[in-house]
Amino acid sequence: MPTVLLPVPLPDFLRDPLAAAYTCVSQPEDEVRGIVVPGGYTMKEELIASLPKLEIISVFGVGYDGVPLAPCRARGIHVTNTPDVLTDDVADIASALVLMTSRSLGKAERFTRAGTWPGNVFPLAHALRGKTAGILGLGRIGKAIAQRLAAHGMKIAYHGRQPQDVPFQYCGSLIELAQASDFLIAACPGGPNTKHLINAEVLAALGTKGTVINISRGSVIDEAALIHALQNNIIRGAGLDVFENEPHVPAELLACENTVVFPHIGSATHETRRAMAQLVVDNLAAHFSGQPLLTAV
Ligand code: NAP
Repeated sequence: MPTVLLPVPLPDFLRDPLAAAYTCVSQPEDEVRGIVVPGGYTMKEELIASLPKLEIISVFGVGYDGVPLAPCRARGIHVTNTPDVLTDDVADIASALVLMTSRSLGKAERFTRAGTWPGNVFPLAHALRGKTAGILGLGRIGKAIAQRLAAHGMKIAYHGRQPQDVPFQYCGSLIELAQASDFLIAACPGGPNTKHLINAEVLAALGTKGTVINISRGSVIDEAALIHALQNNIIRGAGLDVFENEPHVPAELLACENTVVFPHIGSATHETRRAMAQLVVDNLAAHFSGQPLLTAV
């Protein structure tokens, strides 16, 4: 049985099939040939360097920004992720954040629960119809978000490194996208190439009409600049599923009434997490039986 390192706890529905097929260890040792980590896990280069027999790293998530790819490529270590199976759930959460921020749904729910309704009228909110959703990173998830928001009557614009053959407005710069958007939605990967793409200048371009939605990675937004923009009404609001220093959410963000915050639940459904787990198991099985990988990075 090959030895597989599980450096952090995994759900039973992933750990059990791995334990049945491999010798699973929680600490590095020379015999380790595979590693399984969750999407948000940051793997140190030293860990890879310390494992002479390492052949494959299987990420339980689509985002692999926590895995240092260069040393893996240099040593021919395979990396796999879990694309597609989580796309719909993450897009649903992005749509939920757009609805919650535009219609003040979090506030409305708190208002009702607190017994404030009798004698008071809940303030009017903002319609989605006719507004523009600007998507940063029109990939699998970005396209699924576009489909959902178009169904709400929204116009779709996007920015990526190149235009695509899609019926949406392409903006050649993120500033241009922010200016055009009522909702600026981050759906690109994390990592050094996208770090703080949404900064003070982009937030100023989004302006008081605009709301930032982030379901990508916390690193994509300069969180200090976002807090400043929310506190000073430079933008209208924010809907966030991901943060720079998870699971810690800055107290200043929690104090912002115009912000909706989720604990990184984009793919957190029974159905999707099981499908992701199956993909991890299938990728490892393919590798250790000499078959082509299903979803190599
Ligand atoms: P994908 O299909 O690879 O799409 C990523 C998109 O980002 C591509 O269209 C790419 O377009 C664009 N992009 C890449 N680098 C860019 C850059 N420097 N500037 C602008 N755009 C850039 O990936 P996906 O499956 O949609 O997943 C996207 C991300 O969502 C993941 O990497 C992950 O971090 C995040 N995610 C979050 C959750 C959650 O729970 N919140 C769950 C799953 C995934 P171009 O190549 O044209 O630039």
